[in-house]
Amino acid sequence: MKKFSFSSPFNRRQFLKDLSLTLGSTATGLSLLSLTSCNTNKSGNKEQSGETSGQNGQGRKLGIALLGLGKYSEGQLAPALQETNNCYLAGIVTGSPDKVDKWKRKYDIPDKNVYSYESFDQIKDNPDIDIVYVVTPNALHREFVVRAAQAKKHVICEKPMATTVEDCQAMIDACKQNNVKLSIGYRLHFEPHNQRVMELGQKEVFGPVKSIKAADSFKINVKPEDWRLSQKLAGGGPLMDVGIYCIQGVMYTMGKEPIAITAKYGEKTRPDYFKTVEQSISWQMQFEGGVIADCVSSYNDEAGFLYGEARDGWWRLDPAYSYSGIKGETSQGKMDFEEVNQQARQMDDFANCVRNNKPTQVPGEMGLRDVRILLAIYEAARTNKKVGI
Ligand code: NDP
Repeated sequence: MKKFSFSSPFNRRQFLKDLSLTLGSTATGLSLLSLTSCNTNKSGNKEQSGETSGQNGQGRKLGIALLGLGKYSEGQLAPALQETNNCYLAGIVTGSPDKVDKWKRKYDIPDKNVYSYESFDQIKDNPDIDIVYVVTPNALHREFVVRAAQAKKHVICEKPMATTVEDCQAMIDACKQNNVKLSIGYRLHFEPHNQRVMELGQKEVFGPVKSIKAADSFKINVKPEDWRLSQKLAGGGPLMDVGIYCIQGVMYTMGKEPIAITAKYGEKTRPDYFKTVEQSISWQMQFEGGVIADCVSSYNDEAGFLYGEARDGWWRLDPAYSYSGIKGETSQGKMDFEEVNQQARQMDDFANCVRNNKPTQVPGEMGLRDVRILLAIYEAARTNKKVGI
C-alpha cells in the first residue's frame, strides 16, 4: 500500500537533519498540564503516592470492576491493577461465562463480585465495587456507563467515549444525575513524555507553536467479523480506534480547540475487508492564528508519532502512543523520563479523585469534545468540505 506522506516543508527528513545537529539534555521536572476545556487537578504526579485521606473510601484501596474482558482488560488493565496503590481489581462483568473461572483464579475474585451483563445492575448493592471500568466495543459504552452510574458507581470509560455526541451527553448527564464521577481512559495524560509535550506546547517553552504532525496507524489483523471492522459497533475505522490519539496529542499540545477541519479518506485497497469502515484517513486541524496540525491514521500502515514545531525549537515523540517504550527528543536534546505503567497511574489518579472528591483531568467532557472532533473529521472527509468546529 502506498504510504501517506506529509507534503508541508516541515518534513521528516528535515526533522532528522535538525536532530543530528543537536545534542544535550533538557529533561526538566514535569508539570501536568490539563487542557483548558476541563477542570484541572494541578497536583499532577504527586497523586500517585497512595494518599489515603478523603471523603469517599477513606484509608482503603477502591475496588474496580472491569466490564468487558477482552484484550485490553486482559493484557493491560488487569495487570496494571496489580501495581496500583489507590485501587485494586475487585470484580468482573462479562458476557462470557467461560472466562470467569480463569479470572477468578488468577486475580482471587470472589463469586459475589462476578457479574454478567444481565445481572450487572445488582452491582449497586455491592460495597466492594467503587468504580466500574467500561472496556467494551465503542458503541456499547453508553449503555454500560449509564447503567453503572445508575448503580451509583463511579465510571471510567474507554476511548473513544462513544460513537455519537448524543451518547456522550447522555453518559455525562447520567453520571451527574447520580452524583458519580466519569473519566475517559486517556492513559497518555499520565505518561511523562506526553506530559512534557503538554508543557512545551501549552506553556510555549520554545515560543508559540507553529505546526504539528501526528500519525497513529497499525496493520490490523482481526477476523472480518470483528467489531473493529463494524461501523455499527466501532463508529468508524482507524480514526475512532487510534487516530483519536493524534487528536488528543494535538489538543494537549495546543491546549485549545481547533476552529476548522479538512479531511480525506485514503484509498481502500481491501474493500472486501474494510466493508463498512475506512481503511485510512488523513486530516488537518486548523487553529486560530494559522497553526495547522497534519494528521493521519490507517489500519494498513505502521506509525505512531507526535511532532511539534514552535518558533524557537521543536519536539518529537516516536513512538508517542505505545504502552511502553515511548521516546522523545527536542531541539535541545533527548528527553530522559522514566518508564511508567500508564494504566496504573491513570487508574490511581482517578481513584484518588474519587477519594478526595477532586475533578479528574480526563473527564467525560473531554471525551465528548473529542467525539465531536472525530465526527467533524468524518463529515469533512465525506463532504470534501472544510467543517467548522
Ligand atoms: P476486544 O474485542 O478485545 O474486547 C472487547 C470485549 O468487550 C469482549 O471481549 C467482550 O468481553 C466485550 N463485549 C461485550 N459485547 C461485545 C460485542 N457485542 N462484541 C464484542 N465484544 C463485546 O476489544 P479491546 O479490549 O481491544 O477494546 C475494548 C475497548 O477498549 C474499546 O473501546 C477500545 O477502543 C478500548 N481500548 C483502549 C486502549 C487504550 O490504550 N486506552 C487499547 C485497546 C482498546 P466479555 O467476553 O467479557 O463480555
